[in-house]
Amino acid sequence: MDCLFCKIIAGEIPSNKLYEDQQCYAFYDIDPQAPVHFLVVPKAHITGANQITDENSGIVGHIFGVIAKLTKELGCGDDFRVVTNCGPMAGQTVGHLHFHVLAGRSLAWPPG
Ligand code: 5GP
Ligand code: ZN
Repeated sequence: MDCLFCKIIAGEIPSNKLYEDQQCYAFYDIDPQAPVHFLVVPKAHITGANQITDENSGIVGHIFGVIAKLTKELGCGDDFRVVTNCGPMAGQTVGHLHFHVLAGRSLAWPPG
């Protein structure tokens, strides 16, 4: 499948990996927007948040557990943001569900 993040998960494109298990893969964003900026993706190809159903939604809870663990390990304390962009209007540029985790600076709200 011609998907950038599937290729990263498969090791066909190098990445700065943080964590991996049977269900998900975490790696640093190539263009960090905060002192800590990593992505967590399901290994299964799900196009985006609009494709989550009762059948596949278990991965979302799993990913949030991984995020809680990784932010602790990275010393983010209790201050971080999790974002998933869905669709071009929301800024999604890679069509494989991913959760951005941003930390290490004060983050404005609302986003642009
Ligand atoms: P989106 O814009 O879809 O919400 O987020 C896609 C993210 O993937 C962007 O933050 C972008 O910097 C990151 N990205 C794009 N290509 C690569 C890559 O080849 N490697 C890594 N590590 N991150 C990438
Ligand atoms: Zn994919």
